[in-house]
Amino acid sequence: MDTQSIRRVLRCAFLLSMTIVGQCSTLAAEELLQERIPTKLIKAWADDKRLVGSPSLAWTDRTTITVAFNGGSDQIRQLIADAASSWLDSSMPIKFSFKDKNDRWRTWSAKDKSSAATIRIAFSTKPEDGGYWSVIGRMTAIVPPNQQTMNLGDLETVLQKWGDDSSPSWKRSYAHGTIVHEFGHALGLAHEHFHPECQSDLDVSKIIAYVKGPPNNWSEEQALFNIDANYYFKASKTDQGKAFPKQDNEPEIGPHIDQASVMLYAFADDFYKSKSGSKCRPTDPEGYNPVASKGDYAALKAFYPGGN
Ligand SMILES: [Zn+2]
Repeated sequence: MDTQSIRRVLRCAFLLSMTIVGQCSTLAAEELLQERIPTKLIKAWADDKRLVGSPSLAWTDRTTITVAFNGGSDQIRQLIADAASSWLDSSMPIKFSFKDKNDRWRTWSAKDKSSAATIRIAFSTKPEDGGYWSVIGRMTAIVPPNQQTMNLGDLETVLQKWGDDSSPSWKRSYAHGTIVHEFGHALGLAHEHFHPECQSDLDVSKIIAYVKGPPNNWSEEQALFNIDANYYFKASKTDQGKAFPKQDNEPEIGPHIDQASVMLYAFADDFYKSKSGSKCRPTDPEGYNPVASKGDYAALKAFYPGGN
């Protein structure tokens, strides 16, 4: 395989946590969709009757969310911390804490018996661990302390080429968008393509059939949970009500689809009923949205009232 082919395949491999074919239509046989929350974890949520979604899973019970790594160099951790922190400026009532009081990165391991941090990041590339995914907001409470609540797959390798975060191209990169996207989930945000305007234009059954087939081989639960808003919100409302009965468990959906949202997947034209004219497509020239949009920030501010 020549260098050009390798680069293109790798780009597709990590592009596809938010992109289904789209940029990679010439590589259909090699495309892997990376945002696959492990089936056993989804089953555990369902079995526990605690599968929930945004926004009432926001961390309104604290002002600091601790984050620990299992793996990754200091350089990798700094890139991730910077991308994640792009969500939270001084106007927000919460912040992430990546380091302890001695200014050392928080870490966790598979031997832990108590939780080292609220968000626990792993870089597992095992097929059973999925690719890039995060548990939604406070549902981290159901994850055992010796397991990750967020998996960033091959980013431990991919991020090495970025050095530090001074490169303008870094913030335009798909890897940057992937980190911001997963931390969006960790803060309680759901997928933007769950918006009714987008669901009605997506050929949901065609996409689900696609991702369940080779080479992606998603389970039924993985496909429905990530693509079908009816499944996601039904599961969320029912199970969230049991886990958190004293709060408003209705999902919140903005008035219009936000085409600049970092939480929006990019699909190939054939997966939209209105094809290339779809109002459900990311608007960034990259073909994916690499940073959080004004609408994303507005949603987060609504989830986290207070601050400046
Ligand atoms: Zn996602």
